[in-house]
Amino acid sequence: MSRHFLLPALLCLVMAQSPFADEFSRQREQLMTAIADLATETAAETGRPAFSAAVMAALTQVPRHRFVPLDQVPYAYENRPLAIGHGQTISQPYIVALMTDLIDPRPDQTVLEIGTGSGYQAAVLAELVAQVYSIEIIAPLAEEAAARLKALGYPNLQTRVGDGYYGWEEAGPFDAILVTAAASHVPPPLIRQLKPGGRLVIPVGTHFMAQYLLLVEKTADGQVSSRQILPVSFVPLTGGGKD
Ligand code: SAH
Repeated sequence: MSRHFLLPALLCLVMAQSPFADEFSRQREQLMTAIADLATETAAETGRPAFSAAVMAALTQVPRHRFVPLDQVPYAYENRPLAIGHGQTISQPYIVALMTDLIDPRPDQTVLEIGTGSGYQAAVLAELVAQVYSIEIIAPLAEEAAARLKALGYPNLQTRVGDGYYGWEEAGPFDAILVTAAASHVPPPLIRQLKPGGRLVIPVGTHFMAQYLLLVEKTADGQVSSRQILPVSFVPLTGGGKD
């Protein structure tokens, strides 16, 4: 076993013991309060003064400190995005809560995520729905996330390396799709892979234009409508689908 692996493994072992574990859960409780406060403050824009109890419980359950590099662990429960390497970020917890709440997750659903990154958003979804599929375009990030999610034990979560612009056709159609990187437009393959009655949440915009979080809904008869929720700042969606 290399030292590279041994040191983080030992640290995790040590930090899983009290009082570290108690300190993390205390910080997580404070983070949940910050998220609830921000939900109230943004209610006029989002239409959601409070996120569902199930969504809040899922965020309380997932150990965000296990999803960030060691040097970011002290900041894991601050309500902001953090660097995860390869120029990518783990999203702000409030945004994870908002996006998750916007799809109205239910225990019988199948959800697709584009942009696995650290795997944090995927884990939150896996706490709430029957089956989660998540695609990441940067292979080393995808591999790290897959190993981390396996260690944490999410049997209802499948990941793969690929260009999420084209979705995951064989696993669809999906009750909901979350895109966690900003696109210039809503990828048509994702609309096609959404079930009637399904919801898709995606940041749309470019480096030069403001990005907006968009909620796209497909009605039972297949009509598609969308609504801007609030301005956001995401890393760009890359790959074949980009401009
Ligand atoms: N959901 C992540 C945050 C991801 S940041 C988390 O919880 O940590 C956005 C991620 O989208 C990055 O990891 C980036 O590499 C990935 N990405 C960008 N373009 C993509 C594409 N076309 N297909 C799949 N993943 C993509």
